[in-house]
Amino acid sequence: MAKKPKQIAIYGKGGIGKSTTTSNISAALSVAGYKVMQIGCDPKSDSTVTLRGGEYIPTILDTLREKKNAKAEDLIFQGFNGVYCVEAGGPAPGVGCAGRGIITAVELLKQQRIFELLDLDFVIYDVLGDVVCGGFAVPVREGIAEHVFTVSSSDFMAIYAANNLFTGIKKYSNNGGALLGGVIANSINAPYARHIIDDFVARTNTQVVEYVPRSITVTQAELQGKTTIEAFPDSEQAAVYKTLAARIAAHTESKVPEPLDVHELRRWAAGWSDQIVAVETGEVRSTGQSI
Ligand code: ADP
Ligand code: MG
Repeated sequence: MAKKPKQIAIYGKGGIGKSTTTSNISAALSVAGYKVMQIGCDPKSDSTVTLRGGEYIPTILDTLREKKNAKAEDLIFQGFNGVYCVEAGGPAPGVGCAGRGIITAVELLKQQRIFELLDLDFVIYDVLGDVVCGGFAVPVREGIAEHVFTVSSSDFMAIYAANNLFTGIKKYSNNGGALLGGVIANSINAPYARHIIDDFVARTNTQVVEYVPRSITVTQAELQGKTTIEAFPDSEQAAVYKTLAARIAAHTESKVPEPLDVHELRRWAAGWSDQIVAVETGEVRSTGQSI
């Protein structure tokens, strides 16, 4: 009997680095010998671009508009090192629900028993996390993904989006929804950024899975239309992504997060305003101010 793949959803604010991080995780897992599928669930439909040498693949919604009985080979494309790439797609701009693509994609892959047929080890959903729409909640709500990770920098808007996601996860956790594996802290270079993220995860009952620095290596790889794992496999940044991928592969215990309410979050953020200067000028302070 075919094994069940481990299904993971990666959420986060638009532009925060979800697709970059997810593609590097997929690439690193494939290099480690796993069979991986990455499903882009963002109407931008560019999740898998760097796994495909900079090339965009047709989306499930677009293909279905033209061909009602589309088969797996019309929807699934192989990229770097055999990673299976899927883009759910979005509605025409201004029309319909942006989450439709996800619902359609998930149903179709399920119907055709694709995960079993391809004998996948991992299915990773790359999901836009700052849109409040039922479709985007599907991987969490329906318990399709077992574990959710969120990409966040130390910027307030990214943390705000992560905190909203935590609220959604907590809400669906009583009905078999996915639980939270942790935060992938992206673009963490300055000491203050690490302090802020560490304090946020401590307060919301979660953890940082890995700190990923902002790196010119990522930019160079992206300009080549590649992941860092493919373009610069021996770089320090590739080592960070490999560690991150190994942690996600080994991860088993996800938890219900404890989001802050909006007022708490605001007060918490305001408390950091002076402290980030203190951290940067060396008057280091541990992460424990009260809210
Ligand atoms: P999202 O999928 O969340 O919308 P992307 O993964 O497309 O975001 O990233 C947005 C931009 O930020 C891209 O140009 C990407 O190369 C860049 N980026 C993300 N993470 C890093 C990083 N750690 N170092 C350098 N650039 C990064
Ligand atoms: Mg993206």
